[in-house]
Amino acid sequence: LHYLMWFRRDLRIHDNTALAALCERANEDNASVSAIFFLTPEQWQQHDTSLVQVDHIARTLPILAKDLKSQLNITLTVQLCPSFSDCIESLTSLCKDNDISCVMANHEYEGNEIGRDEQLCEQLAKDDIEFVRWHDQCILPPLSITTNDGDSMYKVFTPFYKKWRHTLDVSTIQMHDAPAVDCDDKIELKSSKNSAHTADDIKALSEEMLGDYQKTLQKEDSLQHIDIKAQLTAARDAYPAGESAACQRLDEFVADDINDYDVSRDVPHLHATSQLSAYLTIGTISPRLCYLQASKVQEKLHGNDGDNEDIDRWISELAWRDFYRHVLVDKPNLIRHKAYKEDTDTKVSWSYDDDDFQAWCTGKTGVPLVDAAMRCLNATGFMHNRLRMVTAMFLTKDLLIDWRLGERYFRQQLIDGDFASNNGGWQWSASTGTDSAPYFRIMNPFSQGSTHDKKAIFIKTWLPELKDIPASTLHSEDKMRKALAKGGDFANADYPAPMVEHKSARKLAIAEFKKE
Ligand code: FAD
Repeated sequence: LHYLMWFRRDLRIHDNTALAALCERANEDNASVSAIFFLTPEQWQQHDTSLVQVDHIARTLPILAKDLKSQLNITLTVQLCPSFSDCIESLTSLCKDNDISCVMANHEYEGNEIGRDEQLCEQLAKDDIEFVRWHDQCILPPLSITTNDGDSMYKVFTPFYKKWRHTLDVSTIQMHDAPAVDCDDKIELKSSKNSAHTADDIKALSEEMLGDYQKTLQKEDSLQHIDIKAQLTAARDAYPAGESAACQRLDEFVADDINDYDVSRDVPHLHATSQLSAYLTIGTISPRLCYLQASKVQEKLHGNDGDNEDIDRWISELAWRDFYRHVLVDKPNLIRHKAYKEDTDTKVSWSYDDDDFQAWCTGKTGVPLVDAAMRCLNATGFMHNRLRMVTAMFLTKDLLIDWRLGERYFRQQLIDGDFASNNGGWQWSASTGTDSAPYFRIMNPFSQGSTHDKKAIFIKTWLPELKDIPASTLHSEDKMRKALAKGGDFANADYPAPMVEHKSARKLAIAEFKKE
């Protein structure tokens, strides 16, 4: 008997639900296990997957191949299959050619991914091949947390969180670790020339695919302002690949930074958040492991009923990730660019002004905190959560630009780009989503600077041309305009005046949302 593990956004060994289930069954049935991963550049491009994320995947695969071999006695095959329809075809013939009778994978919740799996399921069933999928991406699976009265999905985070937390308090979370596979009756998957079986070959194939992906992206006008090489270098330095690197980051975070999280998490220059999102997005670390490690520290420090605001706050961030996956599965239309609050699509006259949009993308709005954040994103492929909210609100409220443009741009740049969390964050900021910011509560990007970047350390890191301007000026629109008009310190700064006046832009945005 031969079984196949299909890796997707779950590039790890520990607590990988499908992998554990498949290995356990293989040992019971004395079956062999092989594994496959498809490089799908056409599909990734269609989904606006950033180059830094594709690079992260490419760097992770050879490590996964080595770990699978040494820890579980499983060979990983990586195959180039540009689109999802190619994957269906390849997987079907792989199963037939190699006498594979069971394929296991973990669920993905986006539209094309669901469509692909359903088609494949039908295809494989024709030959009596099982295709079993497991919930693995969340701490508690989508749709498992519902309202007490009507079995419907929560529309607001706080009651969702209470129920989510209570469910975890009264149940034991299971980690699923796969046993090594006993059966030595190995098959080497027969497949096309575009596939690789050893860590070195996987590295070479992935790098070739990455080079082509980079060339394709470079042809896109919209990305001309990005120094792609510099962005790649920064992302590689900040995110060493692989499961051990991710686990080490989690260990270090819970041993130290988590103890100050509630206060420091909103100060961008402190780097006080876990920076685990890039790993969670491609599944190099299990969200359940994150939750359990944090809970362990909480128990050790405070006993069973002890509250700790820092640890609670961090756990609640993991719950936001689960929440947005629950929302997506409940409202699959979100994948079709629909607003959660559909009436906002007819009510608000969104702008599509390309000059305004480009000023935002390139960090040239004349609003220091927004520009610093955008330049940081362009240079590193990462942006701090507080700044994601500030820049998204600026685009959607001060410039009244359609949130979908910003959502797409973030996906094209972010190393942690993830449909559910990104869409959720954008619709929250644009006041079109579930549990979103009320439309009249619009962040002032200048006062956000004075609260969260008091000494303008973050601003000056990314806008060195402003290094001689006092922080108090950078945090006040009036002072900025006056100082710019006078020249003075700004004379040599080559920095634009704020492109909109926040007060009047705010009024306009509120009027749009109030329209009947
Ligand atoms: P930590 O503060 O250490 O949090 C731990 C983990 O909790 C994160 O790694 C992440 O998985 C999860 N998390 C934290 N905050 C949120 C949140 N608000 N929503 C959902 N999950 C959360 N996160 C992504 O992973 N991918 C995205 O594409 C993405 N796009 C966003 C777009 C906008 C407009 C906004 C406002 C937020 C977005 N977020 C996204 C959420 C959040 O900004 C990032 O998860 C966070 O900045 C990652 O840094 P960290 O790992 O240090 O987070």
